[in-house]
Amino acid sequence: MIPFLSLKDITANYRNEIAEAVTRVVDSGWYLLGEEAKAFEWEYATYIGTKHCIGCGNGLDALTLILGAYKELGVMHDGDEIVVPANTYIATILAITENNLIPVLIEPRFETLEIDDRLIEKHITNRTKAIMIVHLYGRCAYTDTIGNLCRKYNLKLIEDNAQAHGCRFGTKHTGSLGDAAGHSFYPGKNLGALGDAGAVTTDDDELAACIRALANYGSSQKYVFDYCGRNSRLDEIQAAVLNVKLQHLDADNHKRQQIATLYYENILNPSVKLPIRLPNENNVYHLFPILCTKRDDLQRYLTNNGVQTLIHYPIPPHKQDCYSKRLGNLSLPITEQLAKQELSLPISPVISENEVMTVINIINLFK
Ligand SMILES: *Cc1c(COP(=O)(O)O)cnc(C)c1O
Repeated sequence: MIPFLSLKDITANYRNEIAEAVTRVVDSGWYLLGEEAKAFEWEYATYIGTKHCIGCGNGLDALTLILGAYKELGVMHDGDEIVVPANTYIATILAITENNLIPVLIEPRFETLEIDDRLIEKHITNRTKAIMIVHLYGRCAYTDTIGNLCRKYNLKLIEDNAQAHGCRFGTKHTGSLGDAAGHSFYPGKNLGALGDAGAVTTDDDELAACIRALANYGSSQKYVFDYCGRNSRLDEIQAAVLNVKLQHLDADNHKRQQIATLYYENILNPSVKLPIRLPNENNVYHLFPILCTKRDDLQRYLTNNGVQTLIHYPIPPHKQDCYSKRLGNLSLPITEQLAKQELSLPISPVISENEVMTVINIINLFK
């Protein structure tokens, strides 16, 4: 069986460094809000290219904290609208609705699977406060059109960078392109911890201070509470693991890019479509999505031939039961079509070229 993703092998690559880092924390007697988290925040802010990084519990919290802080600071209010791609993981949408804000779902472009920037402007109203883009599958979703719309309508630009650590737009990393970005370090992400972890990056001093307080019960001074906050902290063991893995992120992403090149150059089956590959893009291939009208047959065929695949995502957020009342009546045909056709092939820094060529040969024989 060629697994979709072997976290065990990814961790094994850095086992000694990770074990040393974890042991250092275990022996230190200090497990929260300490030197490891501080070091990671500094390293990651430097890597992404922002003034601030605030560690937190997970990626959903990171996004929720950004919007919560904008509400505390009076930038956003209950019922304001956030423009967001319809084709995304549910966490992006949950962060919006948890804050009593309204998600305005935008269709993707079929060729890139990312938000279609041509459709955004007509959805902007006087209640729109932000565009939240999602760099889905490791591909940069930012475009100059999106940046210009934010300036024209005075909107905040928020990035969901859960799937694109290390991706760039020109020379700038995703996570530094807008006003604030949420990052997830869920184990399967390109930069993954050994448990839950997340972070916010931003250049905005006031927003950073508010988020740091909100993530720590609303407190910036012990036992003094400025806001009704939550408990969302990056723990020292996860920070220590992330400090190790951040050093290897670019090399790991480079391996993903080499795997993607093999797929692009060798998948020749006409019933399989690959998302368009642009000349200067710096996709970090968190996932390798392909499209096939006979997707379920293809998936079954690959399983029978020893190749594990996944679907991202089989049911779009607006079709989920949890949103059926609020969003269920929306017609988003491209998003719905993607949910029927998308299939993610194995890609990771630890899959071998031989395994990838095996996957390709099997796909090319699919009828
Ligand atoms: C993983 C993911 C999240 C949420 O991250 P968690 O750490 O699991 O909370 C948010 N958005 C996207 C696009 C994701 O893929």
